Amino acid sequence: MAKFCGAGKVFLVGAGPGDPGLITLKGLECLGAADVVVYDRLAAPGLLDAARPDVELIYCGKSPGHHELAQDQINRLLVEKAKEGKIVCRLKGGDPFVFGRGGEEALELHRHGLPYEIVPGVTSAIAVAAYAGIPVTHRGIATSFAVVTGHEDPSKPETQVQWQKLATAVDTLVILMGVGNLWQIVAGLTSGGRPADTPVAIVRWGTLPEQTTLVSTLGQIVQDAATAGVAPPAAIIIGEAAALRPKLAWFDNRPLFGRRGLVTRTRQQASELSALLRQEGAIAIEMPVIQIVPPDSWEPVDRALAAMESFDWLVFTSVNSVTALTDHLAALELDIRALKGPRIAAIGPKTAAAATAAGLRVSLCPEEYVAEALLEALAAEGLESKRILLLRAAQAREILPQRAAAAGAEVVVAAVYQTLPVETLDPEALRTLEQGEVDFVTFASSSTVTNFAQALGQERARALLENVCVACLGPITAATARELGLTPAVVPDEYTIEALVAALCAYYSLRESPLKQGHNNA
Ligand code: SAH
Repeated sequence: MAKFCGAGKVFLVGAGPGDPGLITLKGLECLGAADVVVYDRLAAPGLLDAARPDVELIYCGKSPGHHELAQDQINRLLVEKAKEGKIVCRLKGGDPFVFGRGGEEALELHRHGLPYEIVPGVTSAIAVAAYAGIPVTHRGIATSFAVVTGHEDPSKPETQVQWQKLATAVDTLVILMGVGNLWQIVAGLTSGGRPADTPVAIVRWGTLPEQTTLVSTLGQIVQDAATAGVAPPAAIIIGEAAALRPKLAWFDNRPLFGRRGLVTRTRQQASELSALLRQEGAIAIEMPVIQIVPPDSWEPVDRALAAMESFDWLVFTSVNSVTALTDHLAALELDIRALKGPRIAAIGPKTAAAATAAGLRVSLCPEEYVAEALLEALAAEGLESKRILLLRAAQAREILPQRAAAAGAEVVVAAVYQTLPVETLDPEALRTLEQGEVDFVTFASSSTVTNFAQALGQERARALLENVCVACLGPITAATARELGLTPAVVPDEYTIEALVAALCAYYSLRESPLKQGHNNA
């Protein structure tokens, strides 16, 4: 990772077109090193998580017609912060020098003799086309492309864009900020000799899960865009290359494209499932119904820690149990040396990986993610008169301690965390559910189902999920859902979130994606 020394510098950083994965490595480094981040509307909001916790975040808007900060205010702000000796990351959508007014900001810094760097970004002009399955150049079809603004400074007396000349001079035209002037653009290109049957695609919110694409022709697009109600931000792509989209629409063809799904796990656990869902094309909305908090008392854990060497096995039941214990050790100013003595067992590969990452050697880990499988594996090692320390949630199934005890082992159970209902449901997520915009909901454990029903009231929960695909991680969670009157439609055989997502993909594989409807994707 780059180190940034010598304070008082501005980095004009391209954030990429929307998909947070499309920022450059250097851009991410600047973001992580910055004292101040000045960002636009089109810079992916998720990216700001990469900034330091103590960073000063300044939003400067730039939604059409609502400039939170005028350009000269932004320029002044950058100068001011650099003069204060700050490392400033000026995060801009796409590339800073493609209609990003990055040039003006750089000139202002130059005028004040202040140091700056330009970190180019992936421009929406090329990336949005690529995500819509349109290569801006293609052998035999398009040997040139131009990126043109469709929105010129209204104070200019006459247009600088020579639409009539561009009409036939360039193969692929990518027009940014052009939705409001679509009619004039089309008129200019048509009168310049571009045929009316030239393919056109308008891509809105490109590279994001909400991406929609309207496909038409130069002659039809004005009417089609009005019918579809296309609004900014959108890129207009004109040229024969747009005809490749039916074959190359890889982004839209992912199994969960356009499906909105609720993730009800705890904040800490949600991100992994959300990321998997997004990878398959879904719009994942996190609405935690439970939260992880410390146990009511640490006393049982502390007693076990004091007698650690008397145990034969130390069992972690979840990733949470590993993190909760290591956090607790840190709070006691201890580390994993306090766990010397017993062999370590973990339920499931993720738990084992978390223990390994914490510096522990895992001796036993059943492949399957249930207590029964662990019990079997422990039994194979011999349970008679073995002392087992079980670290887990306060509310958990009793099957493991009961059966191990029945087999002659002495089981000490110590809660390292508890899951409680959240105080309030995320209002934005709840609104989406109430408006009937949610396609599926994921329950990764019985406690998520129970708390979902409790938070909303059982009747209301059932009504809200009436037309929603209920996906449950494993038969035990599904059984809890059924007890509450829900009808699980997706239940994978395997107890992993990967299996859950794969089962959802299979469920939707034969159903038409909602974002494709009315958008003439063919
Ligand atoms: N510097 C940016 C462009 C800024 S101008 C870049 O290099 O991408 C803003 C315009 O870019 C928007 O009005 C829209 O036309 C286009 N744009 C930016 N992000 C977009 C996205 N995710 N999807 C579609 N168009 C986008």
